[in-house]
Amino acid sequence: MQETKTIRTTRDILKDVRDQGRIIGFVPTMGALHEGHLELIRTADKECDFVVASIFVNPIQFNNREDLEKYPRTLEEDLRVLEKNHCHLVFIPEVEEMYPGEVSEDYDFGKLEKVMEGKHRPGHFNGVAIVVKKLFDIVEPDKAYFGQKDYQQLLIIQKLVEKENLDVEIIPGSTVREKDGLAMSSRNKRLTQEERQIAPLLYQTLLKAADMVPEKKPGEIIEWARQQISAQPEFSLEYFEIADAGDLLPVKNFINNGNYVICLAAHLGNVRLIDNVIINS
Ligand code: AMP
Repeated sequence: MQETKTIRTTRDILKDVRDQGRIIGFVPTMGALHEGHLELIRTADKECDFVVASIFVNPIQFNNREDLEKYPRTLEEDLRVLEKNHCHLVFIPEVEEMYPGEVSEDYDFGKLEKVMEGKHRPGHFNGVAIVVKKLFDIVEPDKAYFGQKDYQQLLIIQKLVEKENLDVEIIPGSTVREKDGLAMSSRNKRLTQEERQIAPLLYQTLLKAADMVPEKKPGEIIEWARQQISAQPEFSLEYFEIADAGDLLPVKNFINNGNYVICLAAHLGNVRLIDNVIINS
């Protein structure tokens, strides 16, 4: 596995790969890798000839300084597992390499960025879009892999590709979970033992809520779910929403053949967790 830190070297290596007619698959990450990331790498390995990962904790997508400072960093172990899972090239730029000057791009994703994560983390998706656009310009992948764990982010990236006419296929990967249902996340490393034990309540609540569709009304389900989570004082629920899976607008009534996604964000101690379940009827 090759490791690069500069845009120049990364481009040079990938130009040769492209000239050989090889299909390039790309998995952007912020490191502290777990099975969720590695499943994306393995899918890319199956579908492409050359797998590129990036590890970059993107400062401009954090709207909370403490979250950025405490973001887990486990580079040595990351490199070990990437190599083991047949990644060919890992790009690990410094902040100065990605942002040598002022950042001025301002993307408009319309209503998609005004709900849930977009509403609660102002500027977050603009930061995500800026870094992903830069990474796509550097890597020029044929296919790029994103997890459904960050469902809204996946839709934002799909919209970015559409808006900017980018020549890359976006491939979604299912959410990978721990045995007890907790969605894998780099931030789980920051949970205390006690917090880790109760964390699966979030997914359990999502599953039970999904079971109530379409018999109960969205409003009733949301109310029930809020009570479930609030009954545990360790949690502070930021949002629990039932939305149309296509545009993420809140659902007032269920209709036949509707596709929905139930999303939540909650603080557990100092850690902010998100999760979702997708309901395809
Ligand atoms: P991150 O390092 O958190 O920025 O995530 C990098 C990529 O891995 C994103 O496309 C995430 O959606 C994806 N990802 C993170 N956690 C999971 C998970 N538990 N299951 C599937 N994909 C995930």
